Amino acid sequence: MRCRRGLGVNLYMPKVGMVSLGCPKNLVDSEVMLGILARQSYELTPHAEEADVLIVNTCGFIDPAKRESIDTILEMAEYKKSGPAKRLVVAGCLVERYRHEILKEIPEVDFVIGTNELERVLEACGGESERRTPGEPAAPYLYHEFTPRVLATPAHSAYIKIAEGCDHPCSFCVIPQMRGRFRSRRFESVVREAENLVLQGVREITLIGQDTTSYGEDLGLRDGLATLIRELGKIPELVWLRALYYYPNRITDGLIRAVAETPRACKYFDIPLQHASGAVLKGMRRGSSSEHFLRMLAKIRAAIPNATLRTSMIVGFPGETESDFQALLDFAAAAEFDRLGVFLYSNEETSASFGLPGQVSARVARARQRKLMALQRRISRRKLRALVGRSVPVLVEGRSPETDLLFRGRLESQAPEIDGQVLINDFDGAEPKPGDFRWATLTESHDYDVVARLESGTFAARVATAPRDPALSALVQIHPPLRDTQESRHALPRV
Ligand code: SF4
Repeated sequence: MRCRRGLGVNLYMPKVGMVSLGCPKNLVDSEVMLGILARQSYELTPHAEEADVLIVNTCGFIDPAKRESIDTILEMAEYKKSGPAKRLVVAGCLVERYRHEILKEIPEVDFVIGTNELERVLEACGGESERRTPGEPAAPYLYHEFTPRVLATPAHSAYIKIAEGCDHPCSFCVIPQMRGRFRSRRFESVVREAENLVLQGVREITLIGQDTTSYGEDLGLRDGLATLIRELGKIPELVWLRALYYYPNRITDGLIRAVAETPRACKYFDIPLQHASGAVLKGMRRGSSSEHFLRMLAKIRAAIPNATLRTSMIVGFPGETESDFQALLDFAAAAEFDRLGVFLYSNEETSASFGLPGQVSARVARARQRKLMALQRRISRRKLRALVGRSVPVLVEGRSPETDLLFRGRLESQAPEIDGQVLINDFDGAEPKPGDFRWATLTESHDYDVVARLESGTFAARVATAPRDPALSALVQIHPPLRDTQESRHALPRV
């Protein structure tokens, strides 16, 4: 805790630490809460043992996420017993689902903040408040270009949330219950935020939302995401622009053309399909068919031959038969995605699919997951092997966390946190620095990663910008997030 003098009074500003769990959308919420605190001169710390107030921004999407959230809350509660922590705040999706239960069952929790109440973080961390009452869910919230954010990503990369909530009726998904109806940020607000981020030194922007392809519909924009990509693509110093979470039947010709014709747009399509059997898709209330999906993928590949295609699938949905699963395998073999994550169905009690007949046992679902992953591993290995010998642009991310002998980076086709990586074991010219865009020769390939030697030439000039205040970086993730050991580096389905 530190003392701030002002207007003749001493204000004691608690030191705040935060753990952010779940997806990048939740990470942006964490960054907003940290920004609100930093603007009020709260000191932020990445060390739980130093914090006066600990905030856990939770994920409550499916069982493993809920378990991780509860474990983290209990772990942080230990610091109230043994460290300086005096207050424990729980925020995020778990609060939206279990607001009352959290306060009832975990007495160490002092305050809860729902996903629409980010600004209450000041009240939660302020010394005068003693709120253990749950409060009522607030009106839908969406941050804007003037909302302060403390970026928890590396200095060269940032997410922008362009929309919140979802109007799709997917039967397995509880996100609309937690995040509310779909709503877009104003077009100008997103553009201003992107420009400001680039002024701060960000060179890679990833647009996120539950369904980015619906961006702008509620504002009366036609092909809003395509227009946004074209507009953001004009920001001179931005190098890579990528959007995640495309809903399959919302991918328009205009969007494909915008990605194809915008040089800064990564040729990367992230389209969570969730399944390929017509019967399962119908049960999921997503509709469509493998034939339609294959036509869509062919259209993207025809327009952009080097496009990277990513998807995620759910196995073990109620009623999924062996022949449904075989249809999924056949589809994955035909589609040849560059990246594919496979997740186990989680039977969530408030989802529409909860309790549907034909529940698939965990053993069968895991076996299907392994089988689909084995197929995808072969596809990925073959595709990456074909890249060996090529000279490609690489974004350097820093030294490898595993060994000081390696640097690591990413290709245009590798989105942050989700995909594989480039292991850099040699370089010509200057020692690589995080945020460098360098040419590299790929020298080896593995299942999901590639090995490269950096060339001396840069792909995009490193622009001198005011360095980010080191005291305000790397503040979240006191411990690493849950990871899957398989192909997808995300443990949770990406919806
Ligand atoms: S799975 Fe995705 S598209 Fe479907 S309801 Fe959930 S968030 Fe919306």
